[in-house]
Amino acid sequence: MPTSSIVAIGDELIGGFTLDTNSHWLAERLRLLGFPVKRITAVRDRPPEIVDQIRRELADEEVTHVFSSGGLGPTPDDRTFGAIADALGRDLIVWEETQARITRRVQRMHEAGLLDSPDVTEGNLRMARIPAAPLQVFKNRRGMAPGVVYEASGKHIFVLPGVPMEMKGIFTEELEPQYLSVGSAVTVRELRFTFAVEARFYPLMTELEQTFPDVSVGSYPNFETKELVIRCIGIDPKRVEQVIEIVRSRSAQLGMTAAG
Ligand code: ATP
Ligand code: MG
Repeated sequence: MPTSSIVAIGDELIGGFTLDTNSHWLAERLRLLGFPVKRITAVRDRPPEIVDQIRRELADEEVTHVFSSGGLGPTPDDRTFGAIADALGRDLIVWEETQARITRRVQRMHEAGLLDSPDVTEGNLRMARIPAAPLQVFKNRRGMAPGVVYEASGKHIFVLPGVPMEMKGIFTEELEPQYLSVGSAVTVRELRFTFAVEARFYPLMTELEQTFPDVSVGSYPNFETKELVIRCIGIDPKRVEQVIEIVRSRSAQLGMTAAG
């Protein structure tokens, strides 16, 4: 059973400056593609903390696919490649193809008047310094930092840039078709109740947990819309449908009518 974990890297995420939309986006895509996420972690741009978290993911036998985002940029606060190299026990090497792309890009940006100098800076070149022996280096049509995938501990480790547009571009155009096309998506079905009291579902949910261990049933109240969503997720669509019908009929008996 493919299982993913996500490591979002960046001080701005932890500091409450930037909402971690990358993990949210990835979690939905991965669920739909049949590589559901077990865990999302956010860590600071501190190499020892990144190394620790990546090692934790590598040690988790259930996890087959690890996705990191962020910290690949040209500034000194971007330290992900060095930390991944440490965690994987590999050297940092210069990836020539990426270096050549960066050089061409800097020249084009200079010609377009976006950069004062056509010279490639040390910061730019840092983005071409990646842990050795990648399985594949993704191009990233929208930015300079490459995406990279490694194989280690029987898992795939995808290292992606933090800029949401770049991360999504690499994911949908390069990564998904090659690495994530074999999964089978789980079935998700929902029932929506208006002004329903969540606690009244408790006995039924406890019972369903025992009779349908293969279907996860969650209740999600929305205090703004006053709606309660009962969401059922499972591999077998028939089993999920059975659970939905039980929830629908039992809640009707309790005087709560579901919409949808
Ligand atoms: P680049 O190579 O393009 O600079 P990067 O990997 O260095 O990308 P960061 O420097 O870490 O990325 O972040 C770039 C931008 O993307 C910042 O504005 C940052 O706030 C945003 N960003 C980073 N991570 C996330 C995330 N998980 N969710 C949403 N935005 C993010
Ligand atoms: Mg960063």
